[in-house]
Amino acid sequence: MTQAPAWLVSMVLHVAVLLTLALIVTPPPENAGIKTIESPPTESVDDVEEIQPVDLTPDDQETQEEVEEVTEAPQTVEVETVEVVSDASDLAAAQTSIDVSDMSADISVSTDLLKTVGKSGGSKAGFGARANAATQKEMIKAGGGNPDEIIRAVESSCDWFKRHQMPDGGWSFDFRQCPGCMGKCKNPETESHLKDRAAATALALLPMLGQGYTHTAQGTKGKYRQQVDKGLAFLCQAVIAGRGKAYSGGGNMYSQGLVGIVLSEAYGMTKDQRLAVPAQAAIDFIMAAQDPVGGGWRYQPRQAGDTSAVCWQVMALKSGNMSGLRVDPMVVKKVSTFLDFVQSDGGAAYGYSSPGDRPALNAAGLLCRMFTEWKKTNEALLRGAKKLAKGGPSKDMYTSYYATQVLYHVKQQLPKEWDDWQRKMSQMLIKAQFTDGHQAGSYYEGFNTGHAPHVGGRIYVTSMATMTLEVYFKHGLPLYQDTGKETDDFVE
Ligand SMILES: [Zn+2]
Repeated sequence: MTQAPAWLVSMVLHVAVLLTLALIVTPPPENAGIKTIESPPTESVDDVEEIQPVDLTPDDQETQEEVEEVTEAPQTVEVETVEVVSDASDLAAAQTSIDVSDMSADISVSTDLLKTVGKSGGSKAGFGARANAATQKEMIKAGGGNPDEIIRAVESSCDWFKRHQMPDGGWSFDFRQCPGCMGKCKNPETESHLKDRAAATALALLPMLGQGYTHTAQGTKGKYRQQVDKGLAFLCQAVIAGRGKAYSGGGNMYSQGLVGIVLSEAYGMTKDQRLAVPAQAAIDFIMAAQDPVGGGWRYQPRQAGDTSAVCWQVMALKSGNMSGLRVDPMVVKKVSTFLDFVQSDGGAAYGYSSPGDRPALNAAGLLCRMFTEWKKTNEALLRGAKKLAKGGPSKDMYTSYYATQVLYHVKQQLPKEWDDWQRKMSQMLIKAQFTDGHQAGSYYEGFNTGHAPHVGGRIYVTSMATMTLEVYFKHGLPLYQDTGKETDDFVE
């Protein structure tokens, strides 16, 4: 190599880089039947009409039996997808409606579409509860937490996210080029597989929405109007361009679930009709991407599921349902097929893609059970929840985020377990948050355990930690308002 002329070295390197790029940009094979359009539609309606949905054939290695199910089972889901986003005039309307930052935009264009929205469970006014500061404090107190400390930590985190927004309105796992940071924060995530901006943007917006900050809120909750506004516009554009598919740049169904939650929550909280089409499109894509055989989700649409990917989609469907978006009850019912398959210990424990027993997946699996079918008094649920509580809050925020939600929801059934948990959890998170200097409000050090930090760096850890602290009030109303009655509005 040292003997080789410089031009030869350069050429070899360029070829290698080009080959690598070719591998990266080659789209992964998608499975049967999902009608997606890879190239973003242009503004011209004529151009949009020329784009044809792509029907992909099932993987060769699938058995004939499976292939038959793949082609038959999801018919109704596909029809719904087409209804919402595939008609050219609808799409034009949707495009008109995505400029969330233009508050004077004509929202009447999407009114027709809205007639198909909101026919399922409908909002139980749940998201609105977050906006009231007094209610928030009461709920933290009722959960045993210290309202001042928790609200201060959450506010500080929102401020850190605000300072790390990119000029285009989105966020990036690699925030070194963010004008507000320029490398002052450690632990950006720079892996090439995480160029997906949608996931980072969703993770930044979730804590803000959880704290009641929206793009339309007035008064103190209007503090981040502009930031949330630009962030939502960024996600809406991604969803419209992908005709429901939110992710790109190495993203996957994890990103889709996160974006589905954000758009559903923002729509549910504000009822801003410009969000209706993108939010429904994101939810429709999730429904269409369900593995038609096993009922789960994985990295790519219609792959056999894993518990982790499943949980993000279930949360998105739950949020969509609460917000009055259309969620097909059959899709939700089918999740049970997947959960039955990966459960162990009578449903108290869960594996990744086969029966197992790991704290992170136990927590995720139990949360899915609660959101889809099980009552809070379910014996296996309470047994599993007790086991989670025994382990105590983990510094793997993935585990703690799910486990905190599970234990919060059963706090009436397991009051001692919840109280021990919430005290340890909140003290851990309040103590570990950066309070000084540029990194104030963020999390990373001490939490680089589990797979999380290697996936999303400081953005991911900060988001998960903040959402865990928000459980006191974010999930307090109305789904699991402690009437002893369970929500069953998923399955009508
Ligand atoms: Zn920074």
